[in-house]
Amino acid sequence: MNLPEPIDNLVKEFSRLPSVGFRTAEKIVLYLLKKPRFDLERFSGSILEAKDKVDYCKNCCMLTDKSMDLCSICRNPKKDVRIICVVSEISDLISIEKSGNFSGVYHVLHGELSPLDGVGPEHLFFDKLWERLTGGNVEEIILANNPTFEGESTAIYIKRFVKERFPEIRLTQLAQGIPQGGSVEYMDHITLGKAMEGRKEI
Ligand SMILES: [Zn+2]
Repeated sequence: MNLPEPIDNLVKEFSRLPSVGFRTAEKIVLYLLKKPRFDLERFSGSILEAKDKVDYCKNCCMLTDKSMDLCSICRNPKKDVRIICVVSEISDLISIEKSGNFSGVYHVLHGELSPLDGVGPEHLFFDKLWERLTGGNVEEIILANNPTFEGESTAIYIKRFVKERFPEIRLTQLAQGIPQGGSVEYMDHITLGKAMEGRKEI
């Protein structure tokens, strides 16, 4: 059975979203089509508004309002700028921040190294991180990588670079407690808090 082409295209678009399979994409599209046109205009308008009005923080690469250079975390005077927690994705930052156990700042790489998928260092926000380290204010870097092949490869890359160029900076990694192949994003707040507290020097 063939669905009309515009529906087919929309299902394909939705199925490209993270964690959305083909069946879910189909359900979403059929649900949206039942909505009045006004609701859909508001929905699509919100997506474009977010894209137009939001940018990456000039410091940590978290999202921020385009009218502000720095995100709310980097603008928070209570945050300890001497400790940077490096995460792969914004969703990881949100999970750690919600755990309430971390008083430092972050750096978001927006991905993990994955040579097989063509993701090399030039595709991630490493340069911004090295720039922050040259100021001389940073005392510790916490690697909050996922315990996956890609996450570990990214952590090793950072470790080599920092040990060579900034040997005075303390390097630590979240204590294990994250199951192998798991994800920082989906860890519960208590486990994440303990992993942060029990971080180990590497
Ligand atoms: Zn920031």
